[in-house]
Amino acid sequence: MAGLAGRPPSGDWERLRGRLTGPLHRPGDPGYPEAKQGFFTMYDARMPSAVVGAARVEDVQAAVAFAARHRLPVAARSGGHSYPGYSTVDGGIVVDLSRFSGIEVRPDGRAVIGAGARLGPIATTLAAAGRVLPAGSCDTVGIAGLTLGGGVGVLDRRYGLTCDHLEAARIVTADGRVRTVSGSAEPDLFWALRGGGGGNFGIVTGFTFRTVPIADVATFRLVFPAGTQAALLAAWQEWQPSMPDELWSGANLDAATAAVAGTFLGAQARMNELVDDLVRRVGTPPAERDGRVLDHVRAMRSFDDPESRPGAAVARAAYVGTSRMLLRPVTDPAAVVELLTRAPRVGTLIDAGGGAIARVGARETAFPHRSALASFQFLHGAAPEDGGEAEARRALAAVRDGLGPEFGTTGYVNYLDPEMPDWAQAYYGVNLPRLRAVARKYDPRRIFAFPQGLSSPRSTVHKGEF
Ligand SMILES: Cc1cc2nc3c(=O)[nH]c(=O)nc-3n(C[C@H](O)[C@H](O)[C@H](O)COP(=O)(O)OP(=O)(O)OC[C@H]3O[C@@H](n4cnc5c(N)ncnc54)[C@H](O)[C@@H]3O)c2cc1C
Repeated sequence: MAGLAGRPPSGDWERLRGRLTGPLHRPGDPGYPEAKQGFFTMYDARMPSAVVGAARVEDVQAAVAFAARHRLPVAARSGGHSYPGYSTVDGGIVVDLSRFSGIEVRPDGRAVIGAGARLGPIATTLAAAGRVLPAGSCDTVGIAGLTLGGGVGVLDRRYGLTCDHLEAARIVTADGRVRTVSGSAEPDLFWALRGGGGGNFGIVTGFTFRTVPIADVATFRLVFPAGTQAALLAAWQEWQPSMPDELWSGANLDAATAAVAGTFLGAQARMNELVDDLVRRVGTPPAERDGRVLDHVRAMRSFDDPESRPGAAVARAAYVGTSRMLLRPVTDPAAVVELLTRAPRVGTLIDAGGGAIARVGARETAFPHRSALASFQFLHGAAPEDGGEAEARRALAAVRDGLGPEFGTTGYVNYLDPEMPDWAQAYYGVNLPRLRAVARKYDPRRIFAFPQGLSSPRSTVHKGEF
């Protein structure tokens, strides 16, 4: 008996429980409240019908088959950091990959990493083997969501995005099959997994990456006096593209802050000369200036500053975000800064692009923003003391929609905004038609559909098991 669509009879749930090696958490079960939690606290009222704590690939297959048969929404959760909480699916099945946390470094420097592994353990395990995978700086972000959306970080001007290091992935597709995809096996799906966004195409259980040898990292941080935001933006957008690939930087702007921090893969003295050039261009000496050489893991951690994220707590947080990509230098930095700082609680994090990111063609992987000068991420606290989620989204929408033609219809799929106008064009640009075709091919019945998912409208009603 399949039961009503979306309402499987309890016997079916028990049969699913019996097939799983890992746990099945249903509402009312002990452990369910914790099992359904992602990183963001704003989505805690959502009630998935079940959380499957997948322990083997067969558990993932069973969960996908069950969801398809009962026409339940299904979403993978790896690190749980989806901005709109798309991995905590109300009334559907969450496939929790956290038990797929293996990290193995092979003698040739390749890393085989489970989809549930997080960036902190990956960085430390690889560092112990003298290797690094270019990725983000936040320890708790999942490798799966990060890689599938591209993966930006402080080494990527030198080495490229995280997805540029992907060699192969193992994925359970909507038909229940386990596929190992690479440049030579199902290359269209492999292409789509490198920037096409988490949640589309299937549930990845593991990745094989190329890694690079580890090196110490010179880091710097400058804090300019209040009132210099426009001068900093004007200077930074000309200075950063003129820098060697070894130098990456990001700026942090808000109503009270004009700061820039960065990394240099080279001698600290040379970094200082390059940073002096930025200071000259800003025209005002920084109020604070710091520079040090750190081992790679400590350098990464120095960029994970929870204080820079509104409402951040150690383990979980309440804030919302949106983004735009800077396609060419802004013509009126003062006007842009006025827009960014009009709402006192909006924070802007700017990450440099260029270098190795830009040497890959826009159509070579699914990540389209290869020629962008920078990503601009806008954040606003969503806790009651910040005015709540609705107020936060209103403030961010004003910034997102007020930016000019230099930013266009763009956005980074890893900084998902559920209210992004023309979201598919913004995230995927020139790659949208091909991505939709891949989604139609691998998920024709739209089993992995979600509000900003790529699969086609549900065309047939699926009955029965695979
Ligand atoms: C504090 C913080 C710091 C961040 N720093 C960076 C950064 O430095 N660089 C950067 O590029 N991004 C960064 N991000 C954005 C981050 O890359 C995205 O939020 C990403 O989607 C998180 O992946 P996850 O696995 O943690 O999240 P999840 O919520 O588990 O997943 C995100 C999406 O991918 C899907 N998904 C999850 N696992 C799988 C899987 N195994 N197979 C298929 N689909 C899957 C989910 O269903 C969901 O739609 C940051 C986000 C936060 C909140």
